[in-house]
Amino acid sequence: MIKQIYLDNAATTSVLPEVVEEMLPYFTEQYGNPSSLYELGQRARAAITDARRRIGGHIGANGQDIYFTSCGTESNNWALKTTADAYKAKGRHIITTSIEHHATSHSAEWLEQQGYELTYLPVDADGLVDPKDLDAALRPDTTLVSIIFGNNEIGTLQPIKELAAITHEHGALFHTDAVQAVGQVPIDVDELGIDLLSASAHKFHGPKGVGFLYIRKGIKTRSFLHGGAQERKRRAGTENVPYIMGMARALDIALEHFEARVAHELKLRDHLIDRVLAEVEHVRLNGHRTQRLPGNVNISFEFVEGESLLLSLEQKGVLASSGSACASGSLDPSHVLLAIGLPHEIAHGSLRLSLGEETTLEDIDYTVEAIKQVVEHLRKMSPLFEDFIAGKKPLSAVK
Ligand SMILES: *Cc1c(COP(=O)(O)O)cnc(C)c1O
Repeated sequence: MIKQIYLDNAATTSVLPEVVEEMLPYFTEQYGNPSSLYELGQRARAAITDARRRIGGHIGANGQDIYFTSCGTESNNWALKTTADAYKAKGRHIITTSIEHHATSHSAEWLEQQGYELTYLPVDADGLVDPKDLDAALRPDTTLVSIIFGNNEIGTLQPIKELAAITHEHGALFHTDAVQAVGQVPIDVDELGIDLLSASAHKFHGPKGVGFLYIRKGIKTRSFLHGGAQERKRRAGTENVPYIMGMARALDIALEHFEARVAHELKLRDHLIDRVLAEVEHVRLNGHRTQRLPGNVNISFEFVEGESLLLSLEQKGVLASSGSACASGSLDPSHVLLAIGLPHEIAHGSLRLSLGEETTLEDIDYTVEAIKQVVEHLRKMSPLFEDFIAGKKPLSAVK
């Protein structure tokens, strides 16, 4: 039987057994509604209040400023839509980037349809936003800047502290989609100057279907879901107690082992990158070489189709992604890869491998060998590669 090597931790992670164990009693004995006044309900309330405090503590925030949501997508929708609305008397201009997750970019597009003006900052070839571009784009009527912390496709980490400082000089608020960064990068919202931050449990070994939004105290926001008085009247709906408890436990664990885990991932990530770049021809590393998420590798292979690469790797037991889970299934290449300037053909031949704590050196060496075999095999079948070998121009040279 072939061993399964899971290298798609940016798509989702496994739920840790300790996390499942933490959740179980809240389905059965501790099933109270946190809004109920009797003891059973109040125990559930105390549990989620403690979870809020712990989660807040992990990002340097007060527990009261953590709002539970159903996912990272909801957190981003909430941050953009209600902040835009709450500050519309000041202005209707919002700034984001060309490399956001669709949860942000599609919220931004929706705001455009509602009459807001959006600026999409470009990025350089490594996927970095230039702080000067942000400075130039900010206007007196800009209310919100939303910039992804660590990119889910190419892994590039933005200079968040500098970007937030520039945003504040112009009197706007700073939101970051930190769904990939939480648990992978040290985050202190005060130190970095973050006003709103989105996160999702299933990206750090918690359950799917629960996330949170940090909203700095004093920031105006509108109710996102209307109904009961939960989440300080900002997000109605009975709290998902078991999942919230699982999320808090998962983040506790992620941060307990932080340094050793990140060092392990970095070592394997760099080993994988170094080997593929050295041993496979006609490849390109996407994303910044060092300023990137510790578990992220994204490489384009010329003359190879990403989907074929994926399927062939799966047959060898390696599970990865072609750039982005969200982009797969559609024929359009990923907007992030296009934004860093890749031609369509090259973007189509991209592979994202996202490592985790459980990934081993043997897994990585096995994966490199599998990539080498698969790429060689696919290129043998590629008429474009034949042309290239016959002396015609490589695609990457066609501008
Ligand atoms: C996964 C992801 C999201 C969406 O989170 P869900 O909980 O799956 O809705 C948003 N942003 C980034 C950067 C992500 O990686």
